[in-house]
Amino acid sequence: MSFDATLLANAAVSALRAYDPGHDLPTLRQRFGTALSELGSNENPLGPSPAAIVAASEAMAAMWRYPDPVGASLKRVLAERLGVGTGQLVLGNGSHELLMLLAQCFADAAHSVVYSQFGFAVFPIATAAAGAQGIAVPALPADHPDAAFGHDLDAMARAIRADTRLVYLANPNNPTGSSFSDVELEAFMARVPGHVIVVVDEAYHEYVDRPGLSTAMHLLDRYRNLVVTRTFSKAYALAGLRVGYLAADASIAAVLERLRESFNVNGIALAAAEAALGDEAHLRRVRDTNASDRAWLAGELTARGLRVFPSQTNFLLVDTGDDATALEARLFAAGVIVRPMMGYGLGQTVRISIGSRAELDHLLEHLK
Ligand SMILES: *Cc1c(COP(=O)(O)O)cnc(C)c1O
Repeated sequence: MSFDATLLANAAVSALRAYDPGHDLPTLRQRFGTALSELGSNENPLGPSPAAIVAASEAMAAMWRYPDPVGASLKRVLAERLGVGTGQLVLGNGSHELLMLLAQCFADAAHSVVYSQFGFAVFPIATAAAGAQGIAVPALPADHPDAAFGHDLDAMARAIRADTRLVYLANPNNPTGSSFSDVELEAFMARVPGHVIVVVDEAYHEYVDRPGLSTAMHLLDRYRNLVVTRTFSKAYALAGLRVGYLAADASIAAVLERLRESFNVNGIALAAAEAALGDEAHLRRVRDTNASDRAWLAGELTARGLRVFPSQTNFLLVDTGDDATALEARLFAAGVIVRPMMGYGLGQTVRISIGSRAELDHLLEHLK
């Protein structure tokens, strides 16, 4: 008797493919040891604040208990930082979980969801998982002066239909590194009908240094249909612990709480995230190091004839001028992992994380 569960998956899941995690990193780490340069996942080479490691270690002793189901202590610190109420916050097992939860709670087969071509890969997946129809709006052109392949907010506003329930924006965006200004976001929000929830994914917020770009948090009072997501995975370097959060109108948070898993963020992660928030000097070091290494790497790559797109993040999108598969394979053989972007339809490009100077030197050595 043949059994094939792929035929039994529900309609929404039938249309999906599993996330491509890239290379088998645990095996590669064994093979290459410290000679492996991991520049594929936008991890922070400085690691977390030492205070976060201490807090995580202390919290381990309580691992036999369930964690605080609402994360009250972390929420209090975040609420004060962000100038919102604790009832406006939802914590997630990474912000990925929150992006999925938003679609699950607010969209279904009767709705459409708008996002940008080359927008973060989770947006179409969350849309499909909810059974909703995705509307991928063509991105800005590659030769756009400050937002190559970025979100075309004007076209996105025009793409909103009567059945649209959600819009996903990433600012800055992964994998393009592109961003839009506060003024552009405000103009966009003014055009969006009140029944459409706008999600602004600010996973790279802490790395931003572009004048005129702060955060969508300032607009929460004015636009109750706005949601801002953030993560501890990037600048706070807690990717392995999985903590993210969102801020929104309390009524949005209350809907999300209906479906959120009760203990979605573990106690070690809660403790580490709270301690990480307290170490502002470490965050400044992370931001400064990233900014100078990003500029340095962009210069080195440009000098080697590659086209580097402007980035407000801890990675660079690089146009190799040709199918990027061969370059990626050559680097891989040398123990340098970068991320090819053909999955996004950007087959000539690779995404390179701003790793440590040693890792970036290793990369450049093999780019000659
Ligand atoms: C890395 C990333 C996330 C965060 O993922 P986590 O689940 O919080 O680790 C969210 N959005 C974008 C655009 C990202 O690149």
